[in-house]
Amino acid sequence: MIEVKVNQESFAYDIHSLIKAFYPEEEVNVREKETFTEDTFLQIAVDVRDEEIEFALYENQALQKKSRVCVKNPERKLVKNQLKQLIYSVLSDYTGRTLPWGTLTGIRPVKIPMAMLEQGSSNVEIADYMRSTYLCSNEKTALAISIANREREVLKGLDYQDGYSLYVGIPFCPSICLYCSFSSSPLKLWEKQVENYLQALFSELRFIGKAYKGRKLNTIYVGGGTPTTLTASQLERLLGVLEECFDYGYLKELTVEAGRPDSVTLEKFQVLKAHGVTRVSVNPQTMNQKTLCLIGRKHTVEQTKEAFYLAREAGFDNINMDLIVGLPGEELPQVQHTLEELQILKPDSITVHSLAVKRAARLRLFQDEYREMGLKNSQEIMDLAYLSCAEQQLYPYYLYRQKNMAGNFENVGYAKVDKAGIYNILIMEEKQTILAAGAGAASKFVLNADHIERVENVKDVAQYISRIEEMIERKRSFLLRCGTGI
Ligand code: SF4
Repeated sequence: MIEVKVNQESFAYDIHSLIKAFYPEEEVNVREKETFTEDTFLQIAVDVRDEEIEFALYENQALQKKSRVCVKNPERKLVKNQLKQLIYSVLSDYTGRTLPWGTLTGIRPVKIPMAMLEQGSSNVEIADYMRSTYLCSNEKTALAISIANREREVLKGLDYQDGYSLYVGIPFCPSICLYCSFSSSPLKLWEKQVENYLQALFSELRFIGKAYKGRKLNTIYVGGGTPTTLTASQLERLLGVLEECFDYGYLKELTVEAGRPDSVTLEKFQVLKAHGVTRVSVNPQTMNQKTLCLIGRKHTVEQTKEAFYLAREAGFDNINMDLIVGLPGEELPQVQHTLEELQILKPDSITVHSLAVKRAARLRLFQDEYREMGLKNSQEIMDLAYLSCAEQQLYPYYLYRQKNMAGNFENVGYAKVDKAGIYNILIMEEKQTILAAGAGAASKFVLNADHIERVENVKDVAQYISRIEEMIERKRSFLLRCGTGI
């Protein structure tokens, strides 16, 4: 356990995030008063004063490091940057480690170069700023800047003011993967409720369609869960309701996740295609059967390949495949094998996720055997993924991080030139309002560049069905309150 005493609690969150980045598996407590238990192996004291910031580190109560800096500018954001630089330099020195993203701990690092590009900064100026202010590595700086430039290109011409996107959640899966952190329910348990769920969802979609009539719907993302757990006729009805409620005149992308290969059929893909779905995602996560069994994905590698070819057969020319690196028992050779298998399939985009330690911890709770296995990710693995994608002309187009990711890396979407997922960029850059329908769905209203508000639905499927009027009312009253609709 790591105990941190700070004299200004308003910095507690930033201090906690950065220390966690160095010690992802340790419990870190940051408080105003000093505490010490017998599990405490590191004690840290942070003093932020008007003139100076001081940082002291004790191991088993013996002082190891002490460092201080003069405050250059009292503006809070600048003090925070200086504080994080100080913590970083002491911990980096003490642990002998550097972090690829330096002091950046937020989940949207690309927002920084994006904002600077919009203000007219050059790539060189942005690179200097990211390296000197956040101590980002050269590689991550270059990655973030190249993605920001590509995102700008993809989003060019989108109307942020009048345009919006729509998320539709189908919270059912054939079975629950052991690392799952989404609110998904096993279809078998909920089969009898699927119809009721769809009725509730259709009511919510009808409300949104009416409330946003006259606005420009730019992208739709049907995710979950696994939307393709619905039958072909249920998918047909869902897509029919979308067509009935929304004007597709400005629609640039309609994605449906077909994530689990054990949920798809040619007929389902044909229904999607017939209703104008432009992009599907078939997710292998890994092409190693042993790992698939370990992580509770109850499908085979063969089924993944079949699902991919079915999507092609139905006419899809924009197929994404999701991978996870850092899975139990997987190191460079296993990841290499997965990437080679994907090179044979030739998807149009690949999203490489780095397993978050939080999820990995949940994995370990389930089976003792995970305890014996390393959960490894490394720059070498991330580089391998980058090179493999580049060989297929798939280049990075969006990026996000999660708290406590294996190796403190990131999730990166790679895509062919014209196959970048626009919704994925929009959700990361928070440029446009995203209305969300379904259990656990959270709508994000972008009121202006600095003001975003969330309106959330309940997660529980039964609650969502029984309280659907209340979910609609939440949106209605929010829209009335901020005067943006109805
Ligand atoms: S397919 Fe995705 S949403 Fe479904 S259980 Fe697995 S991780 Fe969760």
